Amino acid sequence: MTERSPGFATLAVHAGAQPDPTTGARATPIYQTTSFVFNDADHAASLFGLQAFGNIYTRITNPTTAVLEERVAALEGGTAALATASGHAAQLVVMQQLLMPGDEFIAARKLYGGSINQFTHAFKSFGWNVVWADPDDIDSFQRAVTPKTKAIFIESIANPAGSITDIEAIAEVARSAGVPLIVDNTLATPYLIRPIDHGADIVVHSLTKFLGGHGNSLGGIIVDAGTFDWSKGGKYPMLSEPRPEYHGLKLQETFGNFAFAIACRVLGLRDLGPALSPFNAFLLMTGIETLPLRMQKHCENAKAIAEFLATHKAVSAVNYSGLASSKYNALARKYAPKGAGAVFTFSLKGGYQAGVDLVSNVKLFSHLANVGDTRSLIIHPASTTHSQLDDAQKTAAGAAPDMVRVSIGIEDKEDLIADLDGALGG
Ligand SMILES: *Cc1c(COP(=O)(O)O)cnc(C)c1O
Repeated sequence: MTERSPGFATLAVHAGAQPDPTTGARATPIYQTTSFVFNDADHAASLFGLQAFGNIYTRITNPTTAVLEERVAALEGGTAALATASGHAAQLVVMQQLLMPGDEFIAARKLYGGSINQFTHAFKSFGWNVVWADPDDIDSFQRAVTPKTKAIFIESIANPAGSITDIEAIAEVARSAGVPLIVDNTLATPYLIRPIDHGADIVVHSLTKFLGGHGNSLGGIIVDAGTFDWSKGGKYPMLSEPRPEYHGLKLQETFGNFAFAIACRVLGLRDLGPALSPFNAFLLMTGIETLPLRMQKHCENAKAIAEFLATHKAVSAVNYSGLASSKYNALARKYAPKGAGAVFTFSLKGGYQAGVDLVSNVKLFSHLANVGDTRSLIIHPASTTHSQLDDAQKTAAGAAPDMVRVSIGIEDKEDLIADLDGALGG
């Protein structure tokens, strides 16, 4: 019999896990402990010197979290992964390995609002300078490259309108610039898009959204594709130069195709500290077990609701990449043939007030600032997340006064349609 490599749904349930060797527990136990006893002094010394793998302290590794890490690495097709306390923490830890003060990275302008803030303000205070490019204009990435560029950052399915990014074209720009491509795959999840298959070198996630999937736990993760040569050109000293805190060890030389994940752990997580709690790791990996089932339902519901809205008399436009009318439909078919995700925007003929009325009148949809929950969610950015901007700024940020964003859950689609129809005045 030939050896089969397990399929996606099998990996979602099993990757990284086995019955607990001590108790036989079948579900991965929550190792709710800060620290781990050494066998003896030599064992302790080899763990601290990175000569042996093992647990020291939960800020750096934890056995529950390790199962989650192995599972997401397997689903994304990477060599290793590192979990963090949130999606933003994952982005911070990634950039800390790549950028020195005064360096630049190029980021797609269409991003999760929190990432725009993080890049513009918090990263600026570290001397890491973001240069914006337009994901609908690949040349704008090429034009933004300078000798100081250390990375390119994009979302596979981008906020807020669920537009699809041409990952392969931007990966080509990154390759010719000699810098890694980082893809935030939160809205797609590896079930819909696997960025590493399209040339990404690093994948990051907010596990808080579709991967965890139940709106109950914050978490983030970094996946190392194992594809990038960190020693070329001396651009990435954290990875290629001797580390004084590890007796002069060079990470790429020692750890090869998972050196980036190791750097994130032993330099990033160890020193910055945003570790995931084992309890959250348990909840997030329980969510991942049903990822394929949930994503199928999320996408099926989203398409049905987008089609319903497209014919509704109160709606002037629907931006869902899964509709043939979307300018992203060809990219959706190429990159996300199983479904274009479940986050999209639409515009109301009644403008700003109609947006306020809709979010006030829905009953089943929850009016809140999140995506990727089993529950359907709705927000009117102009009166909430983007309310501090004037109308022109709102429109430029993709949050025009008449625009509403939804994240479609896994309820019965007929109930969701009835809720929206009622709240739109029938
Ligand atoms: C939510 C989100 C983040 C940030 O993740 P947190 O877990 O909230 O820190 C980053 N990127 C995208 C696309 C997101 O939706």
